[in-house]
Amino acid sequence: MAEPAGDVEALPRGGFRCCLCRVTVANKPSLDDHLRGKKHQHLENLRSIRQTQELRSVFVSGFSKGTPASELSDYFQAYGEVINVVMDKDKGVYAIVELQNEEMLKNVLAQTNHSLGGQKLRVKPREKKDFKKKPPRKQGSARQQQLNPEKLAQKLCEADDVDAQMSLMVQLFEFSESERRLRDLVVTLFQEVFLEFFPGSAILPFGSSVNSFDVSGCDLDLFLDLEKAKHFQASAKGSSASQDGANPKLDSQSEDSLLSDVDLTTATVPEVLELVATVLQKCVPGVHNVQAVLNARRPVVKFCHKESGLRGDISINNRLALCNTRFLQLCTEADERVRPLVYVVRYWAKQQVLAGNPFGGGPLLNNYALTLLVLFFLQTRSPPVLPTVARLRELLDDEEQTTVDGWDCSFPKDSAKWDPSRNKESLCSLLAEFFHVFEDYDFSGCVISLQEGQLLPLSTFLSSEVSDKFKIGSFNLQDPFELSHNVAANVNKKTAQRFQLCCRSAAKYCRSLQYQRKSTKGKIWGLVRLFQPGNLETEADTAGELIICLPLTLAALPSKSPEHHGGDFHQLGFQKVCAGVAFVLRDVLKCSCLETQGFGEELASNDSKKEEEQSETKNEPLAAGFKRSLDDGEEKDIFSPFAKRPRTEALLPSGENMTWDCSVWHHVWQGRRRVRRQLHALHPDPKDKAALLELEAKVSEAISQQKGEARPVDPLLRFIVCAQLDVDGTPGKPDTHISLRFTPVPEQAVAFKEFFHFLQHFLPRMVEHHLASQAEPQVQ
Ligand code: ATP
Ligand code: MG
Repeated sequence: MAEPAGDVEALPRGGFRCCLCRVTVANKPSLDDHLRGKKHQHLENLRSIRQTQELRSVFVSGFSKGTPASELSDYFQAYGEVINVVMDKDKGVYAIVELQNEEMLKNVLAQTNHSLGGQKLRVKPREKKDFKKKPPRKQGSARQQQLNPEKLAQKLCEADDVDAQMSLMVQLFEFSESERRLRDLVVTLFQEVFLEFFPGSAILPFGSSVNSFDVSGCDLDLFLDLEKAKHFQASAKGSSASQDGANPKLDSQSEDSLLSDVDLTTATVPEVLELVATVLQKCVPGVHNVQAVLNARRPVVKFCHKESGLRGDISINNRLALCNTRFLQLCTEADERVRPLVYVVRYWAKQQVLAGNPFGGGPLLNNYALTLLVLFFLQTRSPPVLPTVARLRELLDDEEQTTVDGWDCSFPKDSAKWDPSRNKESLCSLLAEFFHVFEDYDFSGCVISLQEGQLLPLSTFLSSEVSDKFKIGSFNLQDPFELSHNVAANVNKKTAQRFQLCCRSAAKYCRSLQYQRKSTKGKIWGLVRLFQPGNLETEADTAGELIICLPLTLAALPSKSPEHHGGDFHQLGFQKVCAGVAFVLRDVLKCSCLETQGFGEELASNDSKKEEEQSETKNEPLAAGFKRSLDDGEEKDIFSPFAKRPRTEALLPSGENMTWDCSVWHHVWQGRRRVRRQLHALHPDPKDKAALLELEAKVSEAISQQKGEARPVDPLLRFIVCAQLDVDGTPGKPDTHISLRFTPVPEQAVAFKEFFHFLQHFLPRMVEHHLASQAEPQVQ
C-alpha cells in the first residue's frame, strides 16, 4: 500500500510512525493496516476539510474589542457568502473568517483598505498550519494527582528490587503520550501567533519538556529565536525604502506585525520582552498571568496557559540553554541508567527541600544544577559511565564545531558516536555511591568541572582565564559550556551543609538491608524511606534550626530592576512576603498569629491590652518568648469571611525583621487531601489563586470543625516565627531571601516537627499563590 507522503516516518529496526495519528507500529504490514483503518481515514478526511477551509479563510485583526462575529460576517458579505467566523474567544482581538471560495478570498485580499466601525482592519491570508490531532485536556494534572506520596510508596514497595523501583520512578513521573502532545500543541499555538507578529521568528522548547527529564506538570521553557526576524525586518525596511512599497508581500506582513514599532536589532532585551508580554497577553488565546521578569540573570516573560494548566516562560537571549538541553538529552541516550538516577536524585532532593526552589530563585539547588551534579558523578566512576565534555570534543567531526555566545559548545550530536560505557554498576549501587561520594565533599573549596570530569582546587581554578566572572560561593558547579558560570551560585552555606548532611544520612541508610532488600513483611523498603521528608535528616535537624527560606519572590517584586525603586526595593518585597506568611498562617491555616514587634502603635497597644487580659484569664505558664495568647476578637477575625484584608498590610514592620507568636488549635496538617477532595466535589476547579487559597482555608475550617467541638482550651502547638531579610552573595548579584525561623515551646519540639515538615511544602506554595493573587498585572 502506498503511504501518504510526509505522514509516515521509517524508524530504526523496521518500525514506522504515522505522524498524522502519532502512532508507532512495529512493521510494514501493521503500517498498512493502520493506514487502511478508521482512525487514519477519519483524520485524513478531517485534514483535507481543514485544508480547504484554510485556503479560503482570512485572518482579520484591528477591529475594536468586543466586536460581535455577526458584524464581521456582515462586513465581508459584501464580497460573497461568509461560511463561518471564528472569534478569538479569549481576547476578542482577532478572527478567522471563512469565505465562500478562493475567488472571494482573492477579491477580499485585493482590497487594501478595509475598515469597520471606524477602525482600520488588517486582513491577510490565514497562516497554514500542520494538521494535528487534538490531545485530551489536562492530562498532566490528572496524572500528578495519582502520584501522591502514599500511592507512590505503595507502588514502589510492590517492585522487586531497587533497580526496578528506580526504573518505575521514571515511568511514574515522565510525561504521558498525551501530555507530550498537549505541550506540542501549546508550542504550535505560540509559534503561530508569534509568527504573525514577528515574521521569521521561531519558538523552541528547552529544559525539562525536551531534555528527557520530563516530570508530569513541569514548566514549559521556551526560547523565542528572533535572529531571522531581525533579518526579515531589516530586509522589509530596506525594500520598502528602496522600492517604495513595490514588494507587497513584505509590506503587508511588516505592516501587520508589531515589528514596525520596534527595531529588533537595536532594541534592548527588556524592550523586546515587554513586547513579547503584550503579544502573549493580548493575542494568544488561553494565556493569562503574564509577567515580565526583567531583573533575573536571564530575563523572561512568565505565563500560564489556562486550558492545559501549563506554566512556563519565554526568554530571548538563552541560546546556551538550547545547547545544554541537547547535551543532557544525549547523556540519557548514551546510557540508560542516567534517567532513573536523575529522576530519583531529583525527587529525593525535592523531598528533603534541597532542590526545586518553589519560587524559581532562592538558596536551593535548581534541577539543572542537580542534574549536572549527577552527570559529573557518572563521569567520575571507574570506569566512567559518561564521557567528559573534553573527551567528547576529541570525537568530533569538523562540521560539528559549535560556538554559542563565544563559548565552545561542540560535542557529537549523535550519541552513537559517544564512547559506550564499560561500567557495569547497578542502579542500586550507583545511587548509594552518589550519596557516599558527596557526603564529604568540599563544595566550597573546589570547583566541579564537567568539562574535565574533575574537581578543580580553588587555587588552580582561580588562575584560569574564566575565573574572573565566576561567582565563587558555597557550592561551585561550573556549567559544562559557559565556563565562567557557576550554576549553583545561588546556593547558600546552609543549603550546601544540609546537602552534605542529607547525603550522609542517605548513604548510611543505603548501607542497610532495608534499602537493599525488599521487605517480606510488608514494611517500607528501598527508595521509600529515602523519600520521606526529613526522615533521614536527624543530624541535619539537630545541627541546624527549623528554617524555611523564601526568596524575595519574583511575584512580590516589581518587574523593573532594583535601581528603579531605590532602597525600598528589598523592604517592599520583604513586607509583601511577610504579609503573605501572616495571611497563610492566619487566614488559610486558621492559626492564631500575633505580630509581636514592628507594627503600628495603635494596634500594638490594643493587642497587648487584650492579650494581657487573656493571659490573666488563661492563667497558663508560658515559655520564655511566649508572652501573647489569643483573644476573642481575633477568633472572630480568623473565621471572618474570606476577603482581601488591608489589616495585614497595616501590620507590616517598618524594619526588616518580623516576629509572630502563633498557636495551632487543630490538626490542620493532617488529612487535608481527603477533605480537599470532598470540598472539591462541591466547588470544582478553583478559578484563580484567590479561589484556591479560599479552598485551602475551607479545608482548614472543615478539619477544625470535624469533631464538632469548639476550639480546645489549650492550643495543640505554640511557636514563634521570626522572619528576617538575609542578603548573601555579592554586591553585583545579591542572593536575597527571607528566612523564617520557627521556635516551638521546648516541650513540644518533637510534636512540632510534623507540623513543620508540612509547612516546609505548604507555606512557600501558599505564599506564592497569595502574592500572585495580589499582584497587579505587570503588563497592560
Ligand atoms: P524543571 O523545570 O523540571 O525544574 P528544567 O531542567 O526545565 O527542570 P529549569 O530551571 O526550568 O529546569 O531550567 C530550564 C533550562 O534552563 C535548564 O534545563 C537549562 O537548560 C537552563 N538552565 C536553568 N538554570 C540554569 C543555570 N543556572 N545555568 C545555565 N542554564 C540553566
Ligand atoms: Mg523547566
